[in-house]
Amino acid sequence: MNENAIKRRGLMLVLSSPSGAGKTTISRRLLDSEPALSMSVSATTRPPRPGEIEGRDYFFVSASAFEQMVSKGALLEHATVFKNRYGTPRAAVEQALSQGRDVMFDIDWQGTQQIAEAAREDLVSVFVLPPSVEELERRLYQRAQDSEEVVRQRMAEAAAEMSHWAEYDYVIVNNDVETSVAQVKAILAAERLKRERQIGLRRFVEELRGSGD
Ligand code: 5GP
Repeated sequence: MNENAIKRRGLMLVLSSPSGAGKTTISRRLLDSEPALSMSVSATTRPPRPGEIEGRDYFFVSASAFEQMVSKGALLEHATVFKNRYGTPRAAVEQALSQGRDVMFDIDWQGTQQIAEAAREDLVSVFVLPPSVEELERRLYQRAQDSEEVVRQRMAEAAAEMSHWAEYDYVIVNNDVETSVAQVKAILAAERLKRERQIGLRRFVEELRGSGD
């Protein structure tokens, strides 16, 4: 990293949506095209789905290991979703932010609220809506990695999750992945330029003035 670069605080980009709205595809595309952005890997008590990789998709942990993380304060936020426990390990996020790197989170509305309470100034929250209820149902069935009962349960949970869209800074309707990715990139570009995030700017201007004397 260039030592003379103007330092900026990293930001926390939260993407929330009901499962099946296409958020995973959007976040993968963003990671591919945004080198300063990394993904927060959550811990969960949910068993892995086929194709999911430990340490990439989640840290798959037992219920007792999860509770230990909670009691040690090792999680930035945590919540119960579909009867499973999910939480964001704190250390990796704090390290990235202090180095001026941005972190993306795929977490639900409960976790977003907790981060908003703890660090509102670093949070940029985006809610991704599916184009329609029919399309959401179709995607959940198409995924077919979960049992039919789970899909039904997830449709009910989707309605509950979607009721929180108005608590977010930005809302995107995912009609088309390319458009949605471009929209999140535009949000990111503007948020990175916010005056409050330019923590090194004052020193930079002072140095400039000093060198002009
Ligand atoms: P899934 O089991 O489909 O991977 O995720 C289910 C839900 O849990 C999604 O809405 C996802 O955003 C949410 N989730 C995943 N990780 C976390 C986390 O660390 N914290 C919170 N609060 N929610 C999470």
